Amino acid sequence: MEKIDCAVIGAGAVGLAIARELALAGREVIILEAENAFGTHTSARNSEVIHAGIYYPTGSLKARFCVAGRKLLYTYCAERGINHKRIGKVVVACDEQQLDGLHKYKKQAELNGVDDLRLLTKEEVNTLEPEVIAVAGFLSPSTGIIDSHGLMLAYLGDAENAGATLVLNSPALSGRISDDGIVLDVGGAEPMQLACRTVINAAGHGAPALARSIAGIPAETIPQSYYAIGHYYTLTGKAPFNRLVYPVARQDWLGVHVTIDLGGRCKFGPDFSWRDSLDYKFDESREPLFYEAIRRYFPGLKDGTLQPGYTGMRPRLTGQGKEAVDFMIHGPRDHGVPNLVNLYGIESPGLTSSMAIAGYVRELVD
Ligand SMILES: Cc1cc2nc3c(=O)[nH]c(=O)nc-3n(C[C@H](O)[C@H](O)[C@H](O)COP(=O)(O)OP(=O)(O)OC[C@H]3O[C@@H](n4cnc5c(N)ncnc54)[C@H](O)[C@@H]3O)c2cc1C
Repeated sequence: MEKIDCAVIGAGAVGLAIARELALAGREVIILEAENAFGTHTSARNSEVIHAGIYYPTGSLKARFCVAGRKLLYTYCAERGINHKRIGKVVVACDEQQLDGLHKYKKQAELNGVDDLRLLTKEEVNTLEPEVIAVAGFLSPSTGIIDSHGLMLAYLGDAENAGATLVLNSPALSGRISDDGIVLDVGGAEPMQLACRTVINAAGHGAPALARSIAGIPAETIPQSYYAIGHYYTLTGKAPFNRLVYPVARQDWLGVHVTIDLGGRCKFGPDFSWRDSLDYKFDESREPLFYEAIRRYFPGLKDGTLQPGYTGMRPRLTGQGKEAVDFMIHGPRDHGVPNLVNLYGIESPGLTSSMAIAGYVRELVD
């Protein structure tokens, strides 16, 4: 049986950030990834926005890690030359009924330590974003966009330079808690057993199922998985906006908002609907809903200019009719197993939070 100090399971943005953190702290790290490349799931299917930390409940891990992670990320991007842009975001109330929601966002942001928001009148919104119709808004100057693949490449590069190894096509299938650590059964072309002192389960959508397959983790600590898909449509031609535009949400998600990518192209989304399993299939019947939602703040949207883009799946811990819950990061104190961390429900703002999550996980296993 092979022996290793530390196995990180899952090579998405969060797993790679953790592998980097542990390797830089002097740990011997192997990263086990089921697919034939890193970062092909949620970390490649998101909005690539560096969030400011506006929406999340005060004191939640999402709020804390987003605000701290955003600062770490901007510094890291500058140091490592990762393509990003502090482009800013305008949050808008499309009508009088949304004003209350707009002010609630601003208040929540301030409680979270986001202290640079500036209220905008209807005229100021119009000056900043001439194509946008709104009754009021606010500007979030510290919201940005990032090349998520470039970020993951930098995390992996740092981890490898510090001695970590990424092993592709190597799903962690099951395991057991033993007296001197955690034994993992790893599949793939060359199946093996790996005796690990420390295991970090950062398997994204796969994290709850993997935890259930490791004998010795109390079942009552493992949450159920739910799948909420988001579609993106792209806009043909040059982006008619200068920065990101988010309407006040009409439900528990952030509405069909505008993101501009680093190539200057504009995309709308993600929307929100439930799926029974991990299924990225694009449902083109969503198109009329997009036109209707976007025209509430961008009436100049012309017929035929939206093109199907891609989808992403939120790893949810609560199902239909229930509020989204916080990130769930379980260390020894939560499940009673030494040297094991399970990360569940790392949906948005997980990309922004990745470096802060990594620091927290290192503390849990130190
Ligand atoms: C629609 C959408 C939009 C989003 N937009 C943003 C945004 O703009 N800004 C932001 O900050 N966050 C955003 N997020 C959240 C962010 O994308 C995620 O929080 C982050 O990418 C999660 O990274 P991860 O490493 O936990 O998961 P993943 O990227 O899913 O990685 C998990 C990895 O584990 C592997 N794996 C699974 N099971 C096993 C196994 N048994 N053995 C080995 N490997 C395994 C998978 O193959 C995968 O590579 C968004 C999320 C969604 C769904």
